[in-house]
Amino acid sequence: MKHSDFNNWLISLKTLSRGQLSLLLNLLQHPDSQNQTIQVIEKNNPPICSACGEPHPYRWGRQAGLQRYRCRSCGHTYTQLSNTPLARLRLKERWLVYSQALIEGLTVRKAAARCQIHKDTSFRWRHRFLELPNHSKPEQLSGIVEADETFFAKSFKGQRKLPRLAHKRGHMTHEVGTGTEKVPVLVIRDRQGVTTDFKLQIANTDSIEPLLKSTLARDAVLCSDGAAPYRMAAQHLGLTHHAVNLSKKIRVVSGAYHIQNVNAYDSRLKEWMFRFHGVATKYLENYLGWRRFLERWGKTLTPEIALTVALAKNNPFQLLTQT
Ligand SMILES: [Zn+2]
Repeated sequence: MKHSDFNNWLISLKTLSRGQLSLLLNLLQHPDSQNQTIQVIEKNNPPICSACGEPHPYRWGRQAGLQRYRCRSCGHTYTQLSNTPLARLRLKERWLVYSQALIEGLTVRKAAARCQIHKDTSFRWRHRFLELPNHSKPEQLSGIVEADETFFAKSFKGQRKLPRLAHKRGHMTHEVGTGTEKVPVLVIRDRQGVTTDFKLQIANTDSIEPLLKSTLARDAVLCSDGAAPYRMAAQHLGLTHHAVNLSKKIRVVSGAYHIQNVNAYDSRLKEWMFRFHGVATKYLENYLGWRRFLERWGKTLTPEIALTVALAKNNPFQLLTQT
């Protein structure tokens, strides 16, 4: 570049917004970020044919910076990105910056500004990046296990068509969007910090019992606030159950049985969710998964790990325990 062109370019930098400047700095500091992203993709996803499972494909040129493959058996062509939630997303050099925005829990708009992408793109990226963390749940909780429900306001945020309200005879109908209707979420956490959660239609024995059955080890000891669904479920499943009696201010039974860990988790979850100003109920599980993921990794989480998990085809929870 000529001196004069360079000087003009420098002058033009003054017109950049703060977000643009910050992205530019990031790209200058990490000039290799597209290659880093490609490395993460190619390191973690073996080139197995996504159509038939054949594991030894031919190399077949390149596509968008990635090695392209052709299946020996069925002729399908693909890359190691093809079958992941991030397939067909563009601007790979910004994916690690976006992963960092997810770690920091930025809102859709702030993450869009950080990466200089449209807010609709930021929204699409968010839910693609969160698809696998959402679906990865620990298989079993054991030892002393605490269970409790927490509630989120029902929200149809972002939906063009509001669902028709069900009119029940003899019941007061809640208005849509007033925040009076709540969605219960069952949160279960053991003393190793392994946590899972489930969005419920309604919190009762019928909804809670099968979830406890599928999640808890047979010899787990259940702690709850003593509400009927837990008592009934524990009885049906033959689980040892300790109920704290908050109305009588009995918060700990026999020195060990309490629900303080799960309640503390719920508080952290609520406090963290506050920044999003109410999330659409449709996407609530993505946020729950996102929070579980942040809690599971804590300070050791890096953008590379977040991207690896977003791309992982196998259960990312297993991936967490391997590393
Ligand atoms: Zn194939």
